[in-house]
Amino acid sequence: MTDKPLLSISQARERVLDAVAPLDREELAVPDALGRILGEDVRAIADVAPFASSAMDGYAVRSGPSGRSLQVVGEARAGHPFEETLADGQAVRISTGAPLPPGADAVLQQELAQADDGRVTLLDDVRPARNVRGAGEDLRAGERVLRAGERLGPAELGVAVHAGRARLTCARRPRVAVLATGDELVEPGGKLGPGQIHDSNLVTLSALARQSGADVVEAVHVPDDGPATRAALERALAVADVVIASGGVSVGPHDHVKPALRDLGVEERFWRVALRPGKPTWFGLHDRTLVFGLPGNPVSAMVTFILFVRPALAALQGAAARPTGRTVLGEDFERHPGRDECVRVCLRDGRAYATGPQGSHVLRSMALADGLVVIPRGEQGPLSAGTEVELIEL
Ligand code: AMP
Ligand code: MG
Repeated sequence: MTDKPLLSISQARERVLDAVAPLDREELAVPDALGRILGEDVRAIADVAPFASSAMDGYAVRSGPSGRSLQVVGEARAGHPFEETLADGQAVRISTGAPLPPGADAVLQQELAQADDGRVTLLDDVRPARNVRGAGEDLRAGERVLRAGERLGPAELGVAVHAGRARLTCARRPRVAVLATGDELVEPGGKLGPGQIHDSNLVTLSALARQSGADVVEAVHVPDDGPATRAALERALAVADVVIASGGVSVGPHDHVKPALRDLGVEERFWRVALRPGKPTWFGLHDRTLVFGLPGNPVSAMVTFILFVRPALAALQGAAARPTGRTVLGEDFERHPGRDECVRVCLRDGRAYATGPQGSHVLRSMALADGLVVIPRGEQGPLSAGTEVELIEL
């Protein structure tokens, strides 16, 4: 043990981000880019919509007063324009999405028109541009409509299509290997012997990695044994961009992760953070591979993933930094004297309340949470309700 002051959360995160080298990019068909981080700016190649069109089913006309009787000279449907030029005294039957015929400057919806034997009577005044969608109202030719670093959701994929694209350049998915260490661990659903528990970290950490855009290429259980730990880590280092081990990073005689990593030449960048839960968190680098040793307690593992691994996965993919969230405490929160605390909270009416007991083994505190608030360490009693604090959304 050393007397070095522990790193703060943000100092530790900086060390992680300093070690990140962005991954290379690949081109994907737009539908395959869902959830990816965009690796280029996207500009609209033309106006969207490309032409003025009708917003209603009705009649394309020249603007003017109510009561006019017009001759219906044809029809414009979506995908089937009416090509001739509309003259005074004429109307064209038009469907939603059909191009406005030349000569017309407005559309009157059919509910306000009376059709009779090739003619139509307009029952309302028609001002210019009524029910007309102008060209370029959605996107302008040349306009930047998506930015490098954005996460692509369904709407962004749609905008890319409108912008004229069939393919997008995105960061490659980070390859992640997850290892859960512990002799006590049994696979989900397995029968528990004396002293055994179900392994939840392999599931939660893999799920968090996938949510961050990673491919989980390996998820394995490792017993508390030096050679087995070393062999599993060696395999993981060979296949992954990011290796995440849970458990075995404390100072007990059965904590084999740190010695194994040292043997494998992984260079330690930090061990231990002034954080609760999650003090024993370890981080190192092996060539370009990031290696995290997260504490085994289920809440600690998830919290430290969110604080340190999630930003690393985002940076590997070139994601724009998330803005720091803020919220207001809805109740008093005890302060830890020496470590900043990540409390699981639910948000009600814009205020944060703890999700019940906060032990690092109480995983339900996480399941009930909308986010984490950071309660800065301090000695002068609790942090009172109404104080503004950092909020990390889940
Ligand atoms: P460790 O960090 O290995 O000392 O583990 C700390 C605590 O977390 C112990 O109570 C372990 O039983 C528990 N734990 C470790 N790994 C897991 C896991 N994968 N799933 C659930 N609990 C775990
Ligand atoms: Mg253990």
